[in-house]
Amino acid sequence: MSTPIGNLRDITLRALDTLGSVDEVLAEDTRVGRKLLDAHGIHAKLSPYHDHNGAERRPGLIARLVDGACLALISDAGTPLVSDPGWKLVHEAREAGVRIIPIPGPSAMLAGLVASGLASDRFMFCGFLPPKTGARQRAAEELKTVPATLIFYEGGSRLAASLADLAETLGADRNCVVARELTKLFEEVRSGTLGELAAHYAEAGAPKGEIVVLVGPPAERVTDAGDIDAALNDAMQRLPMKAAANEVADVFGLSKRDLYQRALQLKNG
Ligand code: SAM
Repeated sequence: MSTPIGNLRDITLRALDTLGSVDEVLAEDTRVGRKLLDAHGIHAKLSPYHDHNGAERRPGLIARLVDGACLALISDAGTPLVSDPGWKLVHEAREAGVRIIPIPGPSAMLAGLVASGLASDRFMFCGFLPPKTGARQRAAEELKTVPATLIFYEGGSRLAASLADLAETLGADRNCVVARELTKLFEEVRSGTLGELAAHYAEAGAPKGEIVVLVGPPAERVTDAGDIDAALNDAMQRLPMKAAANEVADVFGLSKRDLYQRALQLKNG
């Protein structure tokens, strides 16, 4: 179930009812879980469930669930499974025929999206980028043509370097929002282009607190069908048909499958 991402009052009545009635609460960190329960006067049994003990704990937990036990899973903040432990437990529990009941509530990615003003009709949650610049740029490269708002989790110490890599890879002119300390006292939502925000944080230094970085979708290209055909014909002179279609799809940000079909049509006259 979801728990607050900062403001302790961001918990649903249903989450409180459930915490007070389950047989046991599985918490990423039992100290954090206890603080939440204490804040609401709930006396529940807590035990740890996290990445380091999950594999060992899962068989026993699943056996109890199959026997009819009612367990709640919480993480330190927000929604479990979202860059937090839980999916293997949910997966294995479902495989064993256990009913999973989601108790929705806060998640930093959605709070950031809602505050950002960036397109929300299509978005892609990308979790944390890799810590090292080479791997980070490769990860960003794969996202370059995704026609959606991209959402990343980030920490203050890596923010400037990540923004610089995103600006270099995705383009310095892409719209960007850095949402910091959401739901907390020093909540801040700063927008600009990727280039502007990379320069700002390079100058200002590492900000305190927790951060969501959002990058707006790539500008829509108005592509002329004739340009695509010309590019395909050109690429097919140099490359096998599939590679040619892939290359042109990357350049225009279009579907590889569609361009392969078009390449076939062009070849067959
Ligand atoms: N499961 C959580 C959720 O649903 O949002 C996310 C857990 S992940 C380990 C922690 C990351 O979420 C932080 O490093 C930060 O990027 C983001 N985050 C969590 N709370 C936040 C907040 N109040 N404001 C901005 N970002 C936050």
